Amino acid sequence: MTSPRVNLLDFDADQMAAYVAGLNEKPFRAKQLMQWIHQRGVSSINDMSDLAKSFRACLLDVAEVVSLPVIKDELANDGTRKWLLDVGAGNAVESVFIPEDDRGTLCISSQAGCAVNCRFCSTGRQGFSRNLTSGEIIGQLWFAEHLLRNEPGAVRRVEKFPTPGWEHTGRVISNVVMMGMGEPLLNYDNVVTALRLMLDDRAYGLSRRRVTVSTSGVVPMIDRLAQDCPVALAVSLHAPNDALRDQLVPLNQKYPLRELLGACERYLPFAPRDFLTFEYCMLDGVNDSDAQAKELIRLLSNIKCKVNLIPFNPFPESGLKRSPPQRIQAFANILLDAGMVATVRKTRGDDIAAACGQLAGDVIDRTRVRERAVHDKEIIQSDDDEPPESVQNIQWLDKLN
Ligand code: SAH
Ligand code: SF4
Repeated sequence: MTSPRVNLLDFDADQMAAYVAGLNEKPFRAKQLMQWIHQRGVSSINDMSDLAKSFRACLLDVAEVVSLPVIKDELANDGTRKWLLDVGAGNAVESVFIPEDDRGTLCISSQAGCAVNCRFCSTGRQGFSRNLTSGEIIGQLWFAEHLLRNEPGAVRRVEKFPTPGWEHTGRVISNVVMMGMGEPLLNYDNVVTALRLMLDDRAYGLSRRRVTVSTSGVVPMIDRLAQDCPVALAVSLHAPNDALRDQLVPLNQKYPLRELLGACERYLPFAPRDFLTFEYCMLDGVNDSDAQAKELIRLLSNIKCKVNLIPFNPFPESGLKRSPPQRIQAFANILLDAGMVATVRKTRGDDIAAACGQLAGDVIDRTRVRERAVHDKEIIQSDDDEPPESVQNIQWLDKLN
């Protein structure tokens, strides 16, 4: 039976104000609740000591603060941390925390499964289970941030500006990427509520350029996002023409490239940076030829962008292979020679892969992660100001050495 209580994690600041007003409480109570929950990470209403006793008693009856239960918590040697979260009905999603010297990135999920069914994506191959609620989405940040904040040595360093040097910050997670499971723009309302909380100074206070939505190209929702909450946008392109993209990203049949790129151009004036990121998963013999690189250059000639080449992470059912490193580099060089900005992710050592394999073994029936776990980890090129690169499911981010 579902709980009759509302989950206070579901509310952005305005919704919290409306909720509190509905309980005949003063507006400042909503601010207090936001602080207790999001800034201090408190879930127990009893512990919210500056709330009036009567208000606490009322809240205990009708409200709660709950995030998704953790099925598995894994820590890799490099500090990368992955949580497998139970979404019920035998399904699970993942969040991944990637620490670096100057930032901490959390990759979160927006749906259990995904209906887009991209040819190369094991989440898509699982089919769609359900949308996550806004509380389940922001709950991934709430849980990870406060858990990590309370661990010894977890406090992040940031470069001091304008004076050089380093200082400690109380916050652990500085960047959020919606690149876990699911298509965020097909769970639009819940995702936007969660995004608003990420940006809100009363909650997490992240800057818009440090919050990235990755989409397979839900054109009308790209336009809505520009109006409602224009965070950094990464578009999963993967093909330089409609014929191939129709195959790889079936959503292209509904929103073909001309429409998608139109939406990208319209988004740019609202974007927190003056370019967008296009993700391009490198598939051996499918989308990685010199001719396709040149076609990509022509396709993107009118749009300020960066292309992020992702070596494909194979899984057995895909029938696809990762492009060889030399091919990826040659593809990148063609883009670079044409004056485009392009980055390539690289694989790295084995310690986390072992952890992935173990995890897959334990939860195979819930998530089919074994299929997704047959991969190397990723190293990506990143600079401090850059929107974080994509990380999909149990892919791993790190800095290029
Ligand atoms: N649904 C959104 C966000 C989640 S996927 C989207 O498609 O953009 C995040 C990124 O991982 C996307 O760029 C996606 O294309 C990529 N991806 C999916 N499966 C992959 C795989 N097996 N290997 C490499 N990248 C993959
Ligand atoms: Fe869904 Fe993104 Fe996977 Fe495509 S790549 S199936 S849109 S999660």
